[in-house]
Amino acid sequence: MGVRENLSHVIEQVTKAAKKAGRDSGSVKLVAVTKNVSVDIMREALAAGINAFGENRVQELVAKQPQLPVDVEWHLIGHLQTNKVKYVIGKVHLIHSLDSWRLAREISRRAQERGLTVEVLVQVNISGEETKYGLPPGEVRSFIAEVAGLPGIRVRGLMTIAPLVPDPEQVRPVFREMYQMASWLKQELPELPLDFLSMGMSNDFTVAVEEGANIIRVGSAIFGPRPNLRRDNHGEKIGG
Ligand SMILES: *Cc1c(COP(=O)(O)O)cnc(C)c1O
Repeated sequence: MGVRENLSHVIEQVTKAAKKAGRDSGSVKLVAVTKNVSVDIMREALAAGINAFGENRVQELVAKQPQLPVDVEWHLIGHLQTNKVKYVIGKVHLIHSLDSWRLAREISRRAQERGLTVEVLVQVNISGEETKYGLPPGEVRSFIAEVAGLPGIRVRGLMTIAPLVPDPEQVRPVFREMYQMASWLKQELPELPLDFLSMGMSNDFTVAVEEGANIIRVGSAIFGPRPNLRRDNHGEKIGG
């Protein structure tokens, strides 16, 4: 199947899941994850209606960006090393993977140099898997409150990567907990624009939408299976 057919199938499933949850499917943003996907195929996705791409490596994002239309939204979804921050400032719509104070400070510093404000999501390691990046749930509130004091960086919500399981129903509790946490944070920190909850990938996006995701990051369901070159395709650390 081609990108266009896959995409319409994904959109159909999102619509169904949103409806089931009593939500408007227009409230769910689809980020097409294009790691290891060629620029030609990405152009097909644009022609089919995609307007946001997610990359997990800075180098790949920066290499592809000049080859595609300027009105495309770029989302950095993978772990961001502090020394790579300078390459993405001003180039990405949203960084989904803020996971340390050091990274927050560097984003703030580089954004200020450029006179910009960078929008970020805080990555939460809700399932407690040792191999995943992200803050433990118990640290998220104080972390966000502290980052709010930095200039040039604005926290817009939360992101998580659920464990890869054979049956997506198994991760429903993870998504539910994330939604509850996001709602609680909005109450706790009402002055902050914590609007976004990025969760759900090819394997589990319908469940994520049912549980309140408003950004989903879908790769292989649109572009077909990737050659599994590196374990960090799913944002995992190599070797823990
Ligand atoms: C690769 C990746 C995705 C998309 O994965 P698929 O299973 O191909 O949909 C989503 N989020 C992150 C952080 C990723 O690295």
